[in-house]
Amino acid sequence: MYLFKRISDLQAFLISSKTVIGFVPTMGALHKGHLSLIEKSKQENGMTVCSIFINPTQFNDKKDFEKYPVTLEADIEKLHHAGTNVLFLPTVNEMYPLGMEEIVPYDIGYLDTILDGKFRPGHFNGVCAIVHKLLNAVRPNRLYLGEKDFQQCLVVKRLLEIIQSDIQLITCPTLREENGLAMSSRNERLSTEERENAKAIYISLQSIKKEMPTTPFTELQKKYVKYLESYSLEPEYLLLADANSLELLTDFNSTKQMVVLIAAKIEGIRLIDNLRI
Ligand code: AMP
Repeated sequence: MYLFKRISDLQAFLISSKTVIGFVPTMGALHKGHLSLIEKSKQENGMTVCSIFINPTQFNDKKDFEKYPVTLEADIEKLHHAGTNVLFLPTVNEMYPLGMEEIVPYDIGYLDTILDGKFRPGHFNGVCAIVHKLLNAVRPNRLYLGEKDFQQCLVVKRLLEIIQSDIQLITCPTLREENGLAMSSRNERLSTEERENAKAIYISLQSIKKEMPTTPFTELQKKYVKYLESYSLEPEYLLLADANSLELLTDFNSTKQMVVLIAAKIEGIRLIDNLRI
Protein backbone atom coordinates (compact mmCIF):
# COMPACT_ATOMS: atom_id res chain seq x y z
CA MET A 1 0.00 0.00 0.00
CA TYR A 2 1.31 3.43 -0.94
CA LEU A 3 0.83 6.31 1.48
CA PHE A 4 0.74 9.94 0.32
CA LYS A 5 0.44 13.06 2.39
CA ARG A 6 0.64 15.61 -0.40
CA ILE A 7 -1.87 16.14 -3.20
CA SER A 8 0.88 16.69 -5.79
CA ASP A 9 2.59 13.36 -4.97
CA LEU A 10 -0.75 11.52 -4.93
CA GLN A 11 -1.73 12.94 -8.31
CA ALA A 12 1.62 12.18 -9.93
CA PHE A 13 1.26 8.56 -8.82
CA LEU A 14 -2.40 8.17 -9.84
CA ILE A 15 -1.93 9.76 -13.27
CA SER A 16 0.89 7.32 -14.03
CA SER A 17 -1.28 4.36 -12.93
CA LYS A 18 -3.70 4.83 -15.87
CA THR A 19 -6.45 2.69 -14.35
CA VAL A 20 -10.03 3.02 -13.11
CA ILE A 21 -10.02 4.49 -9.61
CA GLY A 22 -12.45 3.80 -6.78
CA PHE A 23 -12.34 6.20 -3.84
CA VAL A 24 -13.41 5.67 -0.21
CA PRO A 25 -13.18 8.83 1.92
CA THR A 26 -13.14 8.27 5.71
CA MET A 27 -12.29 9.98 8.96
CA GLY A 28 -10.42 6.96 10.29
CA ALA A 29 -11.02 4.80 13.40
CA LEU A 30 -11.80 2.20 10.78
CA HIS A 31 -14.20 -0.70 11.31
CA LYS A 32 -15.73 -3.41 9.15
CA GLY A 33 -18.25 -0.95 7.70
CA HIS A 34 -15.44 1.10 6.19
CA LEU A 35 -13.69 -2.07 5.01
CA SER A 36 -16.85 -3.23 3.22
CA LEU A 37 -16.63 -0.07 1.09
CA ILE A 38 -12.97 -0.83 0.33
CA GLU A 39 -13.93 -4.38 -0.64
CA LYS A 40 -16.68 -3.16 -2.98
CA SER A 41 -14.32 -0.68 -4.61
CA LYS A 42 -11.68 -3.37 -5.07
CA GLN A 43 -14.20 -5.55 -6.90
CA GLU A 44 -15.13 -2.77 -9.32
CA ASN A 45 -11.91 -0.81 -9.97
CA GLY A 46 -8.28 -1.28 -10.93
CA MET A 47 -7.16 0.84 -8.00
CA THR A 48 -8.71 1.69 -4.64
CA VAL A 49 -7.78 4.89 -2.86
CA CYS A 50 -8.85 5.48 0.74
CA SER A 51 -8.43 8.78 2.54
CA ILE A 52 -8.29 9.39 6.26
CA PHE A 53 -8.92 12.99 7.21
CA ILE A 54 -10.82 14.26 10.23
CA ASN A 55 -12.38 17.26 8.58
CA PRO A 56 -12.62 20.19 11.03
CA THR A 57 -15.14 22.15 8.94
CA GLN A 58 -17.88 19.55 9.27
CA PHE A 59 -17.90 19.52 13.08
CA ASN A 60 -20.44 21.97 14.44
CA ASP A 61 -19.60 20.76 17.95
CA LYS A 62 -16.00 21.50 19.01
CA LYS A 63 -16.05 18.79 21.71
CA ASP A 64 -17.15 16.16 19.17
CA PHE A 65 -14.17 17.13 17.00
CA GLU A 66 -11.70 17.04 19.88
CA LYS A 67 -12.95 13.65 21.06
CA TYR A 68 -13.15 12.04 17.63
CA PRO A 69 -11.25 8.72 17.93
CA VAL A 70 -7.84 8.42 16.28
CA THR A 71 -6.42 4.92 15.72
CA LEU A 72 -4.02 5.57 12.87
CA GLU A 73 -1.63 2.64 13.27
CA ALA A 74 -4.46 0.12 13.47
CA ASP A 75 -6.15 1.82 10.49
CA ILE A 76 -3.06 1.51 8.32
CA GLU A 77 -2.78 -2.16 9.29
CA LYS A 78 -6.45 -2.80 8.40
CA LEU A 79 -6.22 -1.00 5.06
CA HIS A 80 -3.06 -2.88 4.16
CA HIS A 81 -4.71 -6.23 4.96
CA ALA A 82 -7.82 -5.25 3.02
CA GLY A 83 -5.68 -4.79 -0.09
CA THR A 84 -6.09 -1.01 -0.38
CA ASN A 85 -3.73 0.34 -3.03
CA VAL A 86 -3.33 3.90 -1.81
CA LEU A 87 -3.91 5.71 1.48
CA PHE A 88 -4.16 9.48 1.26
CA LEU A 89 -3.41 11.03 4.63
CA PRO A 90 -3.32 14.80 4.25
CA THR A 91 -2.76 17.42 6.96
CA VAL A 92 -5.28 20.20 7.63
CA ASN A 93 -2.88 22.61 5.96
CA GLU A 94 -2.73 20.46 2.82
CA MET A 95 -6.54 20.46 2.50
CA TYR A 96 -7.11 24.06 3.66
CA PRO A 97 -3.97 25.96 2.62
CA LEU A 98 -5.80 29.29 2.81
CA GLY A 99 -7.38 28.52 6.18
CA MET A 100 -10.80 27.15 6.98
CA GLU A 101 -12.58 30.43 6.44
CA GLU A 102 -11.95 30.04 2.71
CA ILE A 103 -14.81 27.58 2.19
CA VAL A 104 -17.63 28.78 0.00
CA PRO A 105 -21.33 28.00 0.54
CA TYR A 106 -22.75 25.10 -1.47
CA ASP A 107 -26.36 25.42 -2.50
CA ILE A 108 -27.73 22.14 -1.20
CA GLY A 109 -31.11 23.75 -0.52
CA TYR A 110 -33.80 21.75 1.25
CA LEU A 111 -31.40 18.98 2.32
CA ASP A 112 -29.63 21.45 4.58
CA THR A 113 -32.83 22.40 6.41
CA ILE A 114 -33.90 18.99 7.74
CA LEU A 115 -32.58 16.18 9.96
CA ASP A 116 -28.79 16.54 10.40
CA GLY A 117 -28.86 19.73 8.31
CA LYS A 118 -31.14 21.27 10.93
CA PHE A 119 -29.49 19.81 14.02
CA ARG A 120 -25.89 20.30 12.86
CA PRO A 121 -25.75 23.76 11.25
CA GLY A 122 -22.91 24.07 8.76
CA HIS A 123 -22.16 20.34 8.88
CA PHE A 124 -23.11 19.52 5.31
CA ASN A 125 -21.38 22.58 3.91
CA GLY A 126 -18.20 21.29 5.55
CA VAL A 127 -18.88 17.84 4.07
CA CYS A 128 -19.31 19.37 0.60
CA ALA A 129 -16.14 21.42 0.97
CA ILE A 130 -13.96 18.46 1.90
CA VAL A 131 -15.53 15.98 -0.54
CA HIS A 132 -15.09 18.52 -3.35
CA LYS A 133 -11.42 19.01 -2.43
CA LEU A 134 -10.79 15.27 -2.06
CA LEU A 135 -12.44 14.55 -5.41
CA ASN A 136 -10.23 17.19 -7.05
CA ALA A 137 -7.20 15.56 -5.46
CA VAL A 138 -8.04 11.92 -6.24
CA ARG A 139 -10.08 12.37 -9.45
CA PRO A 140 -11.75 8.97 -9.07
CA ASN A 141 -14.13 7.25 -11.47
CA ARG A 142 -16.28 5.93 -8.63
CA LEU A 143 -17.01 7.21 -5.15
CA TYR A 144 -18.12 4.82 -2.38
CA LEU A 145 -20.29 6.02 0.52
CA GLY A 146 -22.22 4.21 3.25
CA GLU A 147 -26.02 4.35 3.54
CA LYS A 148 -25.53 4.60 7.29
CA ASP A 149 -25.07 8.31 6.57
CA PHE A 150 -28.21 8.37 4.46
CA GLN A 151 -28.58 12.14 4.19
CA GLN A 152 -24.88 12.54 3.43
CA CYS A 153 -25.31 10.28 0.38
CA LEU A 154 -28.03 12.57 -0.96
CA VAL A 155 -26.01 15.69 -0.16
CA VAL A 156 -22.99 14.32 -2.03
CA LYS A 157 -25.24 13.34 -4.94
CA ARG A 158 -26.36 16.98 -5.02
CA LEU A 159 -22.73 18.15 -4.77
CA LEU A 160 -21.83 16.06 -7.83
CA GLU A 161 -24.67 17.79 -9.71
CA ILE A 162 -23.52 21.24 -8.53
CA ILE A 163 -19.94 20.66 -9.66
CA GLN A 164 -21.15 18.92 -12.85
CA SER A 165 -19.11 15.84 -12.09
CA ASP A 166 -19.53 12.52 -13.87
CA ILE A 167 -18.06 10.54 -10.96
CA GLN A 168 -20.31 7.56 -10.25
CA LEU A 169 -21.69 7.50 -6.70
CA ILE A 170 -22.05 4.03 -5.22
CA THR A 171 -23.93 3.70 -1.93
CA CYS A 172 -23.26 0.65 0.22
CA PRO A 173 -25.36 -1.06 2.92
CA THR A 174 -24.86 -0.49 6.65
CA LEU A 175 -22.79 -3.03 8.55
CA ARG A 176 -23.90 -3.72 12.11
CA GLU A 177 -22.53 -5.09 15.37
CA GLU A 178 -23.94 -8.42 16.52
CA ASN A 179 -26.51 -6.62 18.65
CA GLY A 180 -27.73 -4.62 15.64
CA LEU A 181 -26.01 -1.33 16.49
CA ALA A 182 -24.76 0.31 13.29
CA MET A 183 -20.97 0.23 13.21
CA SER A 184 -19.55 3.69 13.74
CA SER A 185 -16.23 5.21 14.73
CA ARG A 186 -18.08 6.99 17.53
CA ASN A 187 -19.03 3.59 19.04
CA GLU A 188 -15.41 3.44 20.26
CA ARG A 189 -16.35 6.05 22.83
CA LEU A 190 -19.25 4.01 24.27
CA SER A 191 -18.92 2.00 27.49
CA THR A 192 -20.15 -1.61 27.49
CA GLU A 193 -23.41 -0.51 29.08
CA GLU A 194 -23.92 2.38 26.64
CA ARG A 195 -23.25 0.06 23.71
CA GLU A 196 -25.92 -2.28 25.05
CA ASN A 197 -28.40 0.59 25.48
CA ALA A 198 -27.60 1.98 22.03
CA LYS A 199 -29.01 -1.12 20.39
CA ALA A 200 -32.43 0.35 21.20
CA ILE A 201 -31.96 2.53 18.10
CA TYR A 202 -31.98 -0.39 15.68
CA ILE A 203 -34.67 -2.20 17.65
CA SER A 204 -36.87 0.90 17.25
CA LEU A 205 -36.24 1.06 13.51
CA GLN A 206 -37.08 -2.62 13.05
CA SER A 207 -40.18 -2.42 15.25
CA ILE A 208 -41.48 0.61 13.36
CA LYS A 209 -41.04 -1.26 10.10
CA LYS A 210 -42.93 -4.23 11.51
CA GLU A 211 -45.75 -2.23 13.12
CA MET A 212 -46.16 0.31 10.36
CA PRO A 213 -48.93 -1.28 8.35
CA THR A 214 -51.35 -1.19 11.27
CA THR A 215 -50.34 1.88 13.29
CA PRO A 216 -50.11 5.54 12.22
CA PHE A 217 -46.55 6.83 12.11
CA THR A 218 -47.22 9.62 14.64
CA GLU A 219 -48.18 7.00 17.23
CA LEU A 220 -45.11 4.92 16.51
CA GLN A 221 -43.00 8.06 16.71
CA LYS A 222 -44.27 8.82 20.24
CA LYS A 223 -43.94 5.20 21.34
CA TYR A 224 -40.34 4.78 20.18
CA VAL A 225 -39.12 8.18 21.36
CA LYS A 226 -40.24 7.01 24.83
CA TYR A 227 -38.64 3.63 24.25
CA LEU A 228 -35.31 5.26 23.35
CA GLU A 229 -35.52 7.50 26.40
CA SER A 230 -36.07 4.44 28.60
CA TYR A 231 -32.58 3.31 27.50
CA SER A 232 -30.98 6.62 28.52
CA LEU A 233 -30.90 7.82 24.93
CA GLU A 234 -31.83 11.41 24.07
CA PRO A 235 -33.50 11.34 20.65
CA GLU A 236 -32.92 14.41 18.45
CA TYR A 237 -35.24 13.14 15.77
CA LEU A 238 -37.17 10.05 14.78
CA LEU A 239 -38.66 10.82 11.38
CA LEU A 240 -40.13 9.24 8.29
CA ALA A 241 -39.05 10.48 4.87
CA ASP A 242 -39.19 9.81 1.17
CA ALA A 243 -36.01 7.78 0.54
CA ASN A 244 -35.28 9.57 -2.74
CA SER A 245 -35.84 13.19 -1.78
CA LEU A 246 -35.86 13.07 2.05
CA GLU A 247 -39.12 14.99 1.94
CA LEU A 248 -40.53 14.44 5.44
CA LEU A 249 -43.73 12.40 5.59
CA THR A 250 -46.41 12.42 8.26
CA ASP A 251 -47.57 8.89 7.54
CA PHE A 252 -46.78 5.79 5.53
CA ASN A 253 -47.37 6.06 1.82
CA SER A 254 -47.36 2.87 -0.20
CA THR A 255 -46.60 4.76 -3.43
CA LYS A 256 -43.23 5.95 -2.10
CA GLN A 257 -39.96 4.37 -1.12
CA MET A 258 -39.52 5.39 2.48
CA VAL A 259 -36.86 5.52 5.16
CA VAL A 260 -37.06 6.00 8.92
CA LEU A 261 -34.17 7.97 10.37
CA ILE A 262 -33.05 8.37 13.97
CA ALA A 263 -30.45 10.56 15.65
CA ALA A 264 -29.96 10.13 19.38
CA LYS A 265 -27.33 11.06 21.94
CA ILE A 266 -26.06 8.83 24.66
CA GLU A 267 -23.87 10.56 27.25
CA GLY A 268 -23.21 13.29 24.69
CA ILE A 269 -22.16 10.84 21.95
CA ARG A 270 -24.34 11.36 18.90
CA LEU A 271 -25.42 8.26 16.97
CA ILE A 272 -27.42 8.05 13.74
CA ASP A 273 -29.09 5.16 11.97
CA ASN A 274 -31.81 4.53 9.43
CA LEU A 275 -33.85 1.76 7.86
CA ARG A 276 -35.54 1.64 4.50
CA ILE A 277 -39.21 0.70 4.72
P1 AMP B 1 -16.72 8.14 8.40
O1 AMP B 1 -15.31 7.68 8.65
O2 AMP B 1 -17.62 7.94 9.57
O3 AMP B 1 -16.79 9.51 7.81
O4 AMP B 1 -17.29 7.16 7.30
C1 AMP B 1 -16.64 6.96 6.07
C2 AMP B 1 -17.57 6.22 5.14
O5 AMP B 1 -17.90 4.96 5.71
C3 AMP B 1 -18.91 6.96 4.94
O6 AMP B 1 -19.29 6.84 3.58
C4 AMP B 1 -19.83 6.21 5.85
O7 AMP B 1 -21.19 6.27 5.45
C5 AMP B 1 -19.29 4.79 5.75
N1 AMP B 1 -19.71 4.01 6.91
C6 AMP B 1 -19.66 4.40 8.21
N2 AMP B 1 -20.20 3.46 9.01
C7 AMP B 1 -20.61 2.46 8.20
C8 AMP B 1 -21.27 1.20 8.41
N3 AMP B 1 -21.61 0.79 9.63
N4 AMP B 1 -21.55 0.43 7.33
C9 AMP B 1 -21.21 0.83 6.08
N5 AMP B 1 -20.59 2.00 5.81
C10 AMP B 1 -20.30 2.81 6.85
